[in-house]
Amino acid sequence: MQYITAFRQGDAGRHLVRQIARWGAQLADAGRTVFLMEVCGSHTMAISRYGIRGLLPRQIRLLSGPGCPVCVTDAGYIDAAIQLAEQGAILATFGDMMRVPGTDFSLADARSRGADVRVCYAPYDAMAIARDHPEREVVFLGIGFETTMAPVVALVREIERQSVPNLSVLTAFKLVPPALHALLGDPEVRIDAFLCPAHVSAIIGALAYRPIVAQYGVPCVVCGFEPLDILLGIEQAAAMLCAGKPELVNSYSRVVRPQGNVAAQALLDAFLEPTDATWRGLGTIAQSGMRLRNAFAHFDAAVRFDLRETPGTPDPACRCGDVLKGKIAPADCPLFGGACTPLHPVGPCMVSAEGSCAAHHRYGTAEELGP
Ligand code: SF4
Repeated sequence: MQYITAFRQGDAGRHLVRQIARWGAQLADAGRTVFLMEVCGSHTMAISRYGIRGLLPRQIRLLSGPGCPVCVTDAGYIDAAIQLAEQGAILATFGDMMRVPGTDFSLADARSRGADVRVCYAPYDAMAIARDHPEREVVFLGIGFETTMAPVVALVREIERQSVPNLSVLTAFKLVPPALHALLGDPEVRIDAFLCPAHVSAIIGALAYRPIVAQYGVPCVVCGFEPLDILLGIEQAAAMLCAGKPELVNSYSRVVRPQGNVAAQALLDAFLEPTDATWRGLGTIAQSGMRLRNAFAHFDAAVRFDLRETPGTPDPACRCGDVLKGKIAPADCPLFGGACTPLHPVGPCMVSAEGSCAAHHRYGTAEELGP
């Protein structure tokens, strides 16, 4: 409780908002508007929950990037998982994957049609399912960024150690830095600074963003999830943009080290290797994913079942791709709040608790305009 109140002090918040307003005035004098992108689903939700957009001057705009692991999982991955279920496998997955649309169905749809899909609270839960059903193949759906890779790899290590023959993992791991490079290389996307993810940075370390600053001259601020963390990150990014001095700033040093979590990195490196990956909305990005190394290929469901995963076909009316690139705000999608709601999601950004469409739908969009 003491921890939480320390990062929600009104006086400190008001001070930061005033300072941000000063940077906004400088930008206005220069006729500039700057766009800051957060690349973290927890940031996206916190920014909406605390109404942070509404505290900012019009010259400082926040964009939500591809920071929600569920949202960036391609429809083709859902299709492949359903294919496995149709062949008789039990699917074990985190709950927020259940309603993510595939090309024709979600996992929840597949379950209602007879597929055996079970919700896990942790990857290790899949071990119990496999032990309870030795006659069936069990496949854990291992998706996520660097943060989630470590516990899934720990599951693979346990499958090997305990010799569980009927459990494998269907991976769709994604790396954040290659996605940032891809966004900055897209001429249709305008990003002036990044608010870098907190959880991911705890694993990969703040220094992982140094090449972004060096190559593109785009400031990067690693910041935490509390309202003051986010306001501080915005203030630091705005200060660098006003000064024309892009740097890498780690304002979440109470959790994120420059080098990251070296033990977790060693674990990932022992089991995984980089591979090209398909991101929903962003397409295939070279070396932006991780797959099990050949020595562990027998735990890879795609290898074990000779799966041919092809890119899925999302609903053509869904604008999740543009939302994930920060090209449009969720409310600019014609389906937002009408055909697409959290109860009846058309795209993944409305499904996940960390999706930007879900965040805007839950907390409102009026704060988009700012003071
Ligand atoms: S509102 Fe729904 S359909 Fe539109 S971009 Fe968001 S998730 Fe996709």
